[in-house]
Amino acid sequence: MSAPHHDDAVSAGLSRRSVLTAAGLTAAGVALHGSLGTSSAAAATAPAIFYSPHQDDEAIGMAGTILEHKAAGRPVYLVLVSKGENGGIAENLNAFPCTYLGEKCSAPNHYHELGWQTKQGTPEVVSGRTSEFMLSAKAIGVDKVINFKLPDDAYGTPSEYTAFVNKIRGKVRELAERYPGASHKFTAGWLDTTNPQWPTNATHKACSDAAYFLMKNGELKDVRFNHIYTYEAFSRDQRDRGADYVVHIPPAHMKKKRAAILAYNTWDPSRNLYTAGYHSVPTMLEEAYNDPREFVYELPSHYKAGRGK
Ligand SMILES: [Zn+2]
Ligand SMILES: [Zn+2]
Repeated sequence: MSAPHHDDAVSAGLSRRSVLTAAGLTAAGVALHGSLGTSSAAAATAPAIFYSPHQDDEAIGMAGTILEHKAAGRPVYLVLVSKGENGGIAENLNAFPCTYLGEKCSAPNHYHELGWQTKQGTPEVVSGRTSEFMLSAKAIGVDKVINFKLPDDAYGTPSEYTAFVNKIRGKVRELAERYPGASHKFTAGWLDTTNPQWPTNATHKACSDAAYFLMKNGELKDVRFNHIYTYEAFSRDQRDRGADYVVHIPPAHMKKKRAAILAYNTWDPSRNLYTAGYHSVPTMLEEAYNDPREFVYELPSHYKAGRGK
């Protein structure tokens, strides 16, 4: 494999709109950094802030982009948006023996029978997933971790969904005010589903919606969106469909991204690590592990806010 070159990475997925944007920025004398965003010299020292809706999204679909920003000299902050409550993960880890992963389970002899709460906030799931997230953040080498600790109300009633979006908006607004010139990186929630025929992940969509409203009010500039679910939704040759930028992750960065992914497949109860991530989205984690690319979007002009069906 030839050494990845950033310009190739950008041109591979450049849309017509991006070409026009690039031309405009070049004419104005502002450097264009492709997936890095449109940072001016003044903003070069401002952080790039990445918002991971759950514990695992940063490892699956953002780590390479984070490392690209670090390599460009930007401080990188990683935000965990939701608490990551998930009764399904508790059920999988309560099993005796593991029926979810079978031979792939890294628990000794595939036995866990943890007795974790499956309802009412799933405290053990939240705690275990967050330990994995912190290990992943360390492997990537982010400069700061920020935990919004928002209860994930994206799947509640329509008004609970709206309130959740507004809570994210408020927290992101605080960061935008505290760090002028920062760029903001969300998940491409309008695309994030394992099957294009199914509804999108409501938590991811809520994060995109929050970004959309803030952009509309001029409160956020320099915003990008990483497509997380593409690794499971599409075969390898289809994953870049529609992406404005494709990040080709160099081997040294891929090594760190893989270490981040493995944080979600580590069984070490002494460190509060129970392979919770792997008992949630093993296929996505494995596909991302084997694909040295990430897929970055700008906000579509036809963007529609709301959870959808
Ligand atoms: Zn997620
Ligand atoms: Zn298991």
